[in-house]
Amino acid sequence: MTIKPLIILPDPILRQVSKPVERVDSEIRKLAEDMLETMYDAPGIGLAAVQIGVMRRMLVIDLSKEGDPKEPQVFINPEILASSDDRSVYEEGCLSIPDYYAEVERPATVTVKYLDANGVEQTVEADGLLATCLQHEIDHLNGVLFIDHISRLKRDMVIKKFTKAARTKATI
Ligand SMILES: [Zn+2]
Repeated sequence: MTIKPLIILPDPILRQVSKPVERVDSEIRKLAEDMLETMYDAPGIGLAAVQIGVMRRMLVIDLSKEGDPKEPQVFINPEILASSDDRSVYEEGCLSIPDYYAEVERPATVTVKYLDANGVEQTVEADGLLATCLQHEIDHLNGVLFIDHISRLKRDMVIKKFTKAARTKATI
């Protein structure tokens, strides 16, 4: 397992649409392991492949509490089949937008179809934090970031801040 460097805002890679995984093979399982390792190291509770620069429709999530046994979950080619009209609000953050948090409103429950790490089709009806996390990560596969769900004023401020930071880093 390898910890990969994270892609950070405003890298244009984050705005690209990821391609479906055609076959769940050993290469894909290795990628899932690298993604989990990178997520645990960060640390974070969710990571999409695009965040380590791999344009594949794949994400990993672990919502276990600190100190409890790990509960890694791998979602390949995830697809939202249904979303509830009920909404819920969570304070979200993103490993590609470090140290920035904002409240985001999303459907409270989603039904998601996906392939697991064995290539077996599964369907989950998710609510609570899992519902929010799945929607946040699936957005990544479509080039969408959680800051796209906040006010334009706040979004522009964040993008400006990260663009300036990236430029400073580049000159040094
Ligand atoms: Zn994210």
